[in-house]
Amino acid sequence: MRKLASIQRIKSLEPIEGADAIEKATVLGWQLVVKKGEFRVGDLAVYCEIDSQMPNKPEFEFLRPRGMRIKTARLRGQISQGICFPLSLLPQGFEIAEDADCTEVLGITKYDPPMPASLSGVAKGRFPGFIPKTDETRVQVLQTVLDKYQGTACYITEKLDGSSATYFIKDGEFGVCSKNLELLEDSTNSFWKVAREMNIEEKIRTLGKNIALQGELVGEGIQSNKLRLKGQTVKFFNAFDIDTHSYLSFAQLTSLLDSLGLPMVPVLTTDYQLGNNIEEIVKMSVIKSRITDTVWAEGIVIRPLEEIHNSFLENENLHAGRFTFKAINPEFLLKFGE
Ligand code: ATP
Ligand code: MN
Repeated sequence: MRKLASIQRIKSLEPIEGADAIEKATVLGWQLVVKKGEFRVGDLAVYCEIDSQMPNKPEFEFLRPRGMRIKTARLRGQISQGICFPLSLLPQGFEIAEDADCTEVLGITKYDPPMPASLSGVAKGRFPGFIPKTDETRVQVLQTVLDKYQGTACYITEKLDGSSATYFIKDGEFGVCSKNLELLEDSTNSFWKVAREMNIEEKIRTLGKNIALQGELVGEGIQSNKLRLKGQTVKFFNAFDIDTHSYLSFAQLTSLLDSLGLPMVPVLTTDYQLGNNIEEIVKMSVIKSRITDTVWAEGIVIRPLEEIHNSFLENENLHAGRFTFKAINPEFLLKFGE
C-alpha cells in the first residue's frame, strides 16, 4: 500500500523568487510550497502526497474547492506536490517516528478516477495469485534505491495513462484481467474486445507455455483518451513466465513482442545509466508523448535491462521486490488537475 501520509523530515527550505510569504521545501524527493517560517530545516512534519483524498474534517476544509483532494499545483512558478502539516495534526498518543505511516489514522484514502462500465466488466474472480499485479513506485520515495543502484544500465519507456491489462495462458486456459480482477468474457468489455481484435489469445497460445503479457489499454473511452487515439489498443510492457515465476528481460520482451506482432509501450532509450538525483529524473519525465507529440506524456518508467529482484527492494516500497519505477510528468498532472 502506498503511504499517502507519513512523518517526514524537512530536508531543505529555499526561497522562491518574487515570493515573500512562501518558500520551497523538499521532503523525501518531493518539492512543495510551504508558508514561510512555518517549518525549519530538520523539522518533522506530516507530509501528505498528491492523490490524498482527505476526510471531511475542519482542518482540511481549505481543500473543499479542490474536492478535498491534494493535487499538483503551481505557485509563483514553483511546482508544488503534496502538503506539509505540523505534527499537531496527529491524534494525541500517536507515536512520532520518522517515516511512520499516518494515512489510516488521519482517515486519508487514495483518490482513483471513477471507472466506466466498459472497463469495470464482470468479475470472473480475483486477480490470479500466480501473476504479480502491475505497479510502479514513484521515484520521489526511492532515494535509497537510487543511491544503491546508481550506474545500473537501464531502459526508459513512456508511461501511458490508460488501464492496466493482463492477458495470460495457464494450463491451456486463456484469462483476461483488469488491474485487480479477472474478467468474464463479454463483448461490451474493452479488455476482452481488444483481446479479440488483436488476436491476443491465439498469439499467446503459439508460445506453448504458461505466460502472462501485461500492458496498458489505451484509446477511446479510456481515461479521457488523452493521446487522442482512434479505437482502442494495448501497448505491452511486461512478459511474465508463470512457471518460473520470473519476468522476461528487456531483450527477451522486445523479441517476444516482435515475434508475436504485438505493440510495446514506446521505448525512449535503452542506454540510460541510472542517476541518483530525483529532481533530474523528474525533469526527464517532462516530455511530449512519442505517440501523439502534441500532448504531454504522463511520464516515464525506468527499469534495468536485466531484471533485478530482491528483498532490499521489497523493503524499499518496490512491489514484489522488482526494480522498476516511474516518474510522473508534473506538467501532465497540472494540465489534468491531478
Ligand atoms: P500509485 O501507485 O502511484 O498510487 P497506481 O497504482 O494507480 O498509482 P499508476 O500511476 O497508473 O498506478 O502507475 C502504475 C501503472 O502504470 C501500472 O500498473 C501500469 O498499468 C501503467 N503503465 C503505463 N505505462 C507503463 C509503462 N511504460 N511501463 C510500466 N507500467 C506502465
Ligand atoms: Mn501503485
